[in-house]
Amino acid sequence: MKNKKMLSLIVCSVLISACSTEEKIVEVEKIVKVEPTPVTSVKNVILMIGDGMGVQQVGLLEDYARRAPNSIYNSANNQTALSKFSKNGLMGLSMTSPHGGLVVDSACSATQLATGMPAGSEMIGLDNNGNIVKTILERAKAAGKATGLVSDTRITHATPASFAAHQPHRSLENDIAAQMIASESVDVLFSGGARNFLPSDIKTNTKTRDLMSKLGASSSIYKKSKRQDDRNIITEARDGHGYNLVFDKKQLTSYTGDKVLGLFANSSMSDGIAYTACKKANSCTQPSLTEMTMKALDILSRDPDGFFLMIEGGQIDWAGHINDAGWMLHELIKFDEAVEAVYQWVKDRDDTLVIVTADHETGGFGFSYTRKNLPKAKSLSGDGMLGYDFQPKFNFGPLETLDALHGQTGTFYDMMSHVNSDWDFSSTTAQAWSDAINAYSQIKVTPKQAQGIPERETNEYFVADHPYLAADVFPKLNDFKEFYVYGDDLHGNLMGRALAADQNVIWGTGTHTAAPVPVYAFGPQGVIKQFSTMQHHTDIGQKMIAALLPQ
Ligand code: MG
Ligand code: ZN
Repeated sequence: MKNKKMLSLIVCSVLISACSTEEKIVEVEKIVKVEPTPVTSVKNVILMIGDGMGVQQVGLLEDYARRAPNSIYNSANNQTALSKFSKNGLMGLSMTSPHGGLVVDSACSATQLATGMPAGSEMIGLDNNGNIVKTILERAKAAGKATGLVSDTRITHATPASFAAHQPHRSLENDIAAQMIASESVDVLFSGGARNFLPSDIKTNTKTRDLMSKLGASSSIYKKSKRQDDRNIITEARDGHGYNLVFDKKQLTSYTGDKVLGLFANSSMSDGIAYTACKKANSCTQPSLTEMTMKALDILSRDPDGFFLMIEGGQIDWAGHINDAGWMLHELIKFDEAVEAVYQWVKDRDDTLVIVTADHETGGFGFSYTRKNLPKAKSLSGDGMLGYDFQPKFNFGPLETLDALHGQTGTFYDMMSHVNSDWDFSSTTAQAWSDAINAYSQIKVTPKQAQGIPERETNEYFVADHPYLAADVFPKLNDFKEFYVYGDDLHGNLMGRALAADQNVIWGTGTHTAAPVPVYAFGPQGVIKQFSTMQHHTDIGQKMIAALLPQ
């Protein structure tokens, strides 16, 4: 009976005039009610990478936004932009490991996201055998779409570079600059890093200095070069490859073209604490990560074929490396502001996939409870207290700490410059270090707590095997010294230690960890549901490519 009815339906689907009236009604109802074919592709992909933004970092931002007594999110329903994507989209987790290893660096991680292929550590746009692999950005360009890269670090830094260059090592930033421009695969490039584009003699080359000034660049942008040759990749971009040039917030705001190189700093762009301050004083001369993002969206969305855009909040990682929780919170807020701009742009669209994720976790960061500053006894009115006071045995971290972290007015690098402006720390005292910390941090340290920050000793392991890395370690970090690899940053790591107990903060390393990172996906359900799982970054790369460029 059932089979006969189905056969009848099939027959009337093919030839509707052959159906009885009743069958026709049933069939018409069926056509009306038929489920839409799930959307599995999109016109645009926006990938946002919080460099070093593991789940503990996201937790810091959410705790601050939702629970800090004086949170700047109090005026925004205590909602982060990240939480809007989780509420209106889906979340997953992703493993980030490199080919054949446990812990990933930013170059390999971004390469795996960009290509969907396993890659080796510190490689840019190559697979694990060293072969050039076309990235999602290059494939989008080849398919006629517009493309863009935005970062608050340098445009040649590992994360953006991995989407538009192919080099055996991330440190080859001069070659990355030349390659990114020559390929013309990126329509919109907004970041810092002019030093890798300018000729080596820029300090004395009057002709080029005059030209840069005429182009509207402030002298801080062309103050020095990292190149070894006399190429000027900025003029090559303009004269040989059709790029317009912008160098500050004003030029960016008034720009109306569609192919543009924006270099807004000699090296990295403003840190999150400096950005918070200049935003408050309405005195920022660099565009913010948010402003670069909005301009990129403006330009790229004019392409009727669609676009691929990668936006990086790159300094969350830098704050993590130096174990600076206050700075890291400001970087997370800066990134979240850019996430908000993307959310506002995309929220009513159904043709765009947004992925927000990290490339890895940095610092082994977390809040933790201590035996310091123990809470006082409090009486509670509840009928289960049986005459006992509420008095936990340990310090589980007061919420005021979140405001104190946000109240930090300089990064650990600013504090180091406060100790010695030339970063000559050969004869510094604990008093000088505690004074420097206390000048910027609401949480104070005594000279006794700052003991050990000035002390350094030579580590033969580094000198013999890694002369380009730190030659010094500190007795205080002795138990984990192999995890602190970045020269003067070690003073910062020790400042982190000095502040740690009073911040209820712990740090596990000066490098990265292999912790899975959060993945936020927003877009058509048929596209985003595949991201709500435990995956690997190569999977994310493949899923994005399949959605943007279906075969
Ligand atoms: Mg990065
Ligand atoms: Zn890093």
